[in-house]
Amino acid sequence: MSCLFCGIVARDIPATVVAETERTLAFRDLNAVAPTHVLVVPKDHYATAVELAEADPAYAGELLAAAGAVAQQEGLTGGYRLVTNTGDDAGQSVHHVHVHVLGGRSLGWPPG
Ligand code: AMP
Repeated sequence: MSCLFCGIVARDIPATVVAETERTLAFRDLNAVAPTHVLVVPKDHYATAVELAEADPAYAGELLAAAGAVAQQEGLTGGYRLVTNTGDDAGQSVHHVHVHVLGGRSLGWPPG
């Protein structure tokens, strides 16, 4: 199976890595839509956040905690948004679960 984010985890595909834990990796989104836009992924391949949570709840918790640590590291003291797009209607383009950490400006709600 060819997976872009597995390639980044394996360091076969370059990325700007900002944080790493034993089971997660965080790197900057190539097409940032906010001053801070970081993707946090599990190093193991799961397609969606729910698939990960159902298979290994502790791992899903680690992913969320890693996203929070990135927000803190990036100085997002005014708040931030965590997004996990799931499926076609949500626009999920990479089928390896990733948490978008978005911040650094006022984020509108609801999203368009
Ligand atoms: P999603 O649409 O939720 O699946 O998000 C996938 C994200 O991956 C998009 O925001 C892309 O900009 C981002 N992306 C695609 N290729 C790369 C890459 N090589 N390095 C970093 N981010 C990427």
